[in-house]
Amino acid sequence: MHPKLREAVAVFYLVCRAIDTVEDDMNPSASEKVPHLRTFHTRLAQAGWNLHGYGEVAHERDLLEHFDRVIAVYATFPPAYQTVIASIADAMGNGMADFLDKRVESLAEYDLYCYYVAGLVGEGLSRLFAASGLEDASFATAKELWNSMGLFLQKTNIIRDYREDIDAVNARVFYPKAIWGKYVARIDDLKAPQHRTAALACLNDMVTNALEHVPACVDYLDRLSEPSVFTFCAIPQTMAIATLALCYNNGAVLEGEVKIRKGEAVHLILASTALGPVLRIFAHYLRAIAREVPPTDPNAARTHQVIAAALRRVEKHPRYAQ
Ligand code: MG
Repeated sequence: MHPKLREAVAVFYLVCRAIDTVEDDMNPSASEKVPHLRTFHTRLAQAGWNLHGYGEVAHERDLLEHFDRVIAVYATFPPAYQTVIASIADAMGNGMADFLDKRVESLAEYDLYCYYVAGLVGEGLSRLFAASGLEDASFATAKELWNSMGLFLQKTNIIRDYREDIDAVNARVFYPKAIWGKYVARIDDLKAPQHRTAALACLNDMVTNALEHVPACVDYLDRLSEPSVFTFCAIPQTMAIATLALCYNNGAVLEGEVKIRKGEAVHLILASTALGPVLRIFAHYLRAIAREVPPTDPNAARTHQVIAAALRRVEKHPRYAQ
């Protein structure tokens, strides 16, 4: 990756993380946070600006207290990079502000929330890749593709983090009511042992919903041409499909933290350097999930259909067998 592009990607991530820190901190009231979220993008042009009093852990507080350093690096970027970073910060801050007091109810709201927190990251990266000239200009506008990349990762994190999110002091859970409401009366019920069968059906429904993004994610990766950009994009995707396979029909998600094993993660990182191995990783975990589908699961048929569609997309690629 180009040194200047690498720097722009790093600053872009810091900007996204700073906005997310303001969103996540549950100590300030929503009315205090909303103006910060809605104006965050304007701070990028404000040399010396920083923010105190936000962040629940040291590295988050550090980032905001020293945000003037991020602004100073941003100021050295060509206008094309600055425009991308500022416009994504604008959309992300405003989107998060819209959702601060809102529960995620419908599937459309679930996808919209994930778009604000992750789809926009996919958009920003794609526009930076396109602006750098390393990837085709059409990446900037391929919304269905970059949005799927972001939603696939974000939904995986939301599924995996159920217990951490529900146990937080100011619990904020992002499972949409349109899904959990089919199985339990209250979202807290998912963690209760007496509701385990219903909770697993809910979990499997959530995983199936995430798996619908796989074909578009494969299309996105297929279109990348620069090797370092490919690896950068592929690693989170292979981690996500492995994590979904771990979560599917796994009561441990409802009981505590689940994480793929270190050795498995290392293998995924090392294998994520070319499309062929990445396609085979997807196929491996898709088949593993298919084997775990309980015949009694209320969505068994739909889950098998979604997996079959994803596998068709993966296996038809000429690089799959190479
Ligand atoms: Mg957040």
